[in-house]
Amino acid sequence: MAFTDLHQWISEYPLLEKIIKLKPVTWINPSRKRMTEITSLPVNQHDMQEAELLWQRFAPYLAKAFPELKETKGVIESPLREIANLKKIFSGDPAFQMDGDFFLKCDSELPVAGSIKARGGIFEVLHYAEELATQNGLLSGVENYEIFDSEKFKQFFQQYSIGVGSTGNLGLSIGIISAKLGFNVSVYMSADAKEWKKKLLRSKGANVLEFAGDFGEAITEGRRATHADPKGYFVDDENSKYLFLGYSVAATRLKQQLDEQSIRVDEQHPLFVYSPCGVGGSPGGVAFGLRQVFGDCVHCFFVEPTHSPGVLIGLLTGKMEKVSVHDFGIDNRTEADGLAVGRPSAFATSISKWLISGVYTIEDDDLFRLLYLLAKSENIFIEPSATAGLAGPHAIAATDYIAQHRINPSQITHIAWATGGAFVPTEERDDFYQKGKALYAPTLK
Ligand SMILES: *Cc1c(COP(=O)(O)O)cnc(C)c1O
Repeated sequence: MAFTDLHQWISEYPLLEKIIKLKPVTWINPSRKRMTEITSLPVNQHDMQEAELLWQRFAPYLAKAFPELKETKGVIESPLREIANLKKIFSGDPAFQMDGDFFLKCDSELPVAGSIKARGGIFEVLHYAEELATQNGLLSGVENYEIFDSEKFKQFFQQYSIGVGSTGNLGLSIGIISAKLGFNVSVYMSADAKEWKKKLLRSKGANVLEFAGDFGEAITEGRRATHADPKGYFVDDENSKYLFLGYSVAATRLKQQLDEQSIRVDEQHPLFVYSPCGVGGSPGGVAFGLRQVFGDCVHCFFVEPTHSPGVLIGLLTGKMEKVSVHDFGIDNRTEADGLAVGRPSAFATSISKWLISGVYTIEDDDLFRLLYLLAKSENIFIEPSATAGLAGPHAIAATDYIAQHRINPSQITHIAWATGGAFVPTEERDDFYQKGKALYAPTLK
């Protein structure tokens, strides 16, 4: 983009100046609507209930195909944990100070895929498998989906191929579930994808194709190659309704967990939820679900790395998927591989626009500091991308958002959404921890 263009952009949206300089910023969304003001979205509460029912139909299959799901009878869910020790450390650190209660939604521990992609990715493949089986008369009268775990079904699915472009975690979830069902699955990976993720995928029977470029390029090539096969189905992270709906079901599950822990959510006791954001699909789906379940009492924030603020720029300028961070001279290079995305999902962002409260950005060094602090205080390991939400309470407290909404800060329940980590190999964990420890100094930021 020419200098004059950038100049114009900045005069129209002054926050862009800091964003382009890679400074951490917090943007409050002027378009957030109350639920009563929202008339039509491309998905609705009924779609979300249908999604929950599909999960229920497949639960017997999942319990049979994945031993780790036996105990939960095929339900893929993660715990909600209070992180009071971390909060205590935060209260002595001006860089992270906060009020209210602090919880971690541990999608880092989601079985089968080890990240939040177990929600959207597995859902989309199950949805497609059911559709194929129904269309081909394999399911007439079948009540028990354990049948998906049979030679007959696997041979049937072998004629079909599934493709996906991924920085890593989406590829893992699509690869694992597709290969298990019998599909011929190919994962198109960007240059920043971690080596261990490629290895793991290959061991599960997926084809891994590597690209020198970033996530956007891997998706473009994956989409082209998959569609070249008449029996090819592409899981399109830049534009997928089914990924979105798969993520949304997290909200009803979270409500159950809050009820079980007797945590009140109402106007005086609002929920603040902080979700790490790549293309905006997983945080968007979760935010959509949460707004359906908790209405205006939930305040959803996205967080992106300062080097990959694709969704923030898309929302701020209103240009959505038409702009990428590269257009603004931002390099899209971050250690948070799950968030290294330069351009937002068209589908998800057009919905999030009305639902979310804002977006803040975070520097990579802070991701590692937070990883270290969480591990040290709570003995919970999550991957660098997944730590971004932990900075949320402080980032929002620094704005006038809480005062504007007449909220008593001590009555907020903060939930940082920990989006991944379970599959990270021990050696990498140690490296991350040591790096965070070296970077951390309580009074400096
Ligand atoms: C995918 C991912 C995200 C972001 O999800 P999007 O749908 O790309 O916005 C965040 N954290 C981790 C660990 C992820 O794998």
